[in-house]
Parts: sequence; C-alpha cells; structure tokens
Amino acid sequence: MLVHRRTADLLDWRNAIPSGTPIAFVPTMGYLHDGHLSLLSEARRRAGTDGQVVLSIFVNPTQFGPNEDLDRYPRDEAGDLAKAASCGVDLAFCPSHPRELYPGTPAGTSSGADAAANTGATWVNVEGLDAHLCGRSRPGHFRGVCTVVCKLLGLVRPDVSLFGEKDFQQLAILRRMHADLFLPGTIVGMPIVREHDGLAMSSRNANLDPVARVAALAIPRFLAEVRRRFAAGERASAALVDGAAAALAPGRVDYVEVVDAASLQPVEAITGPTLCAVAVHFGGVRLIDNTVLLP
Ligand code: AMP
Repeated sequence: MLVHRRTADLLDWRNAIPSGTPIAFVPTMGYLHDGHLSLLSEARRRAGTDGQVVLSIFVNPTQFGPNEDLDRYPRDEAGDLAKAASCGVDLAFCPSHPRELYPGTPAGTSSGADAAANTGATWVNVEGLDAHLCGRSRPGHFRGVCTVVCKLLGLVRPDVSLFGEKDFQQLAILRRMHADLFLPGTIVGMPIVREHDGLAMSSRNANLDPVARVAALAIPRFLAEVRRRFAAGERASAALVDGAAAALAPGRVDYVEVVDAASLQPVEAITGPTLCAVAVHFGGVRLIDNTVLLP
C-alpha cells in the first residue's frame, strides 16, 4: 500500500494511472472502525482486481466549529494504515498538514475567520438541505465538508466514492453537490454499521467514558421504539418521537427530528420515505444516529 502525504504526490500518482482503470474512493477522518472498513471492502469490490482503492485520512479543520472537538478528535494513523492495508487499499492519502488541502488565503481575497485561519478563498455551499438537523446546530459544518470533499474528488477523480448513511444529511448534501457541480464518478451510500449492542459505530465513541458508553445505548433503544411505533401504524411525527427527552436521558438532546428523506424538511404526517434523526451529547461527546421509515 502506498502512502502519500503531499497533494503534489497524489496528483503525480493519479496522472500516472492508465485511463480506464477503475478507481474507488473512501474519504474519512481516520480512527478507522468497522463502519469505515465496510466502505473500504465495498470500494475494493467495486474497483475489482485491476482497479485502485484510494482512502483519505484527514481531520478537516474547516468542518469543526470554534467550540467543537477538533483538538479531541481521536487519531491513530499507524493503526489506520494497518487496517487499510488489510482491506486491500492501494493508496492512503494522509495530508501531512492542512495546507496540503488549503494552500492559504491570498491577501485581500477573504476576510474574518477564514482569512485568520488561512484556509483559502474558495468554498462550496449547498443551499437548502442544511436548514435542519446537523446543519442547524453546526453552522458552517457542511460548507467545510463540501469544500474538502470537492477538493478530494478533484484530486482523486474517482469512478465511485463511498459514504455512510450514518451521516445521512452529509450524504444527501454531497449527492446534491456532486450533481450540481458535475463532479466525477458516482456517489454510493452504505448502511450504518453498529456495535453488537446497537450503538452506531463512530470514531467519537472512543471518547465516551464507560458510564457514558452504557448511557449512549439510549439512542438505539429510542430509534427502535420509533420503528416499533411506526410499524404499529403511527404516522404522526410528534407521536412517533413523543417522550424523546426522557428516553434519551441523561443524554443532552441537540435535536430529535422527523424529516422528509429527500428534502430534509420536517414532516408532520408521514406519507413517503422519512428520516428520524437524532444528535445527543453523552458525557461531552456528541453522537448522531438515524433510522429511515418507509410507509
Ligand atoms: P468519518 O471518518 O466519521 O468522517 O467517516 C467517514 C465515512 O465513513 C463517512 O462517509 C461516514 O458516513 C462513514 N461512516 C462513519 N461511521 C459509519 C458507520 N457506523 N457505518 C457506516 N458508515 C460509517
């Protein structure tokens, strides 16, 4: 497995790939778990024996707000590279410094926090789909995600890029960006991978202390109860999530929302594919999870 740390080396590698070689790409922030590995295995399958699987590991600073957990985000590059190699990754792109992807802000072209952070002058903003869920509670988050994924797609020029449905809103927004900007390849969404006890796998789970780890099981329990009510015929959103705060205690609820699975706008009565999504803090760690309801 090759490891490149400089954007110029990634570009040289890419430009030497014979045209027609399938390339499958999995962007991540590292601290790989079985959710990431499911994406990598599917990437390997789709690239085939002649193709190339590219993994990126980059904790993207521009998608973190000023009071978020950028400094506490777990990292284990050596462990990640061992896992990636065992999944058949051909190239791991691990930028040695954020400036490999954000070459800097030309004087006078940007202002405020972006200029201070020297993050560049170009941003990708998908409008509308970020009005609810994480978009509302993390202003600027999806601008950072879209910008870095757009840069990575431009560098890797993959035939297929794989993303997890655990970050359902992120996947919807990236699909929209990909279509609107005529970016290369196709976007594939992959199902949520869970721990044996139901907790959705997340790199942030590593930051849960043992008490918070047990308490966090309230999330999959709550989503199971929502699915149970839905299966029993309940179609009113308010009734589906009634009692959420108590069910998710002692977690501190950021949001519990029921939205149309395509527009991500709130729905009162369910008539089509619908997403119930939550974000809850346990012991200072913000966890997200969701379930799709199909009438
Ligand atoms: P991250 O490293 O958290 O940015 O995630 C990288 C990719 O892995 C994203 O497309 C995520 O949606 C996906 N992912 C993260 N956790 C899971 C999971 N539990 N199941 C499936 N995909 C996941």
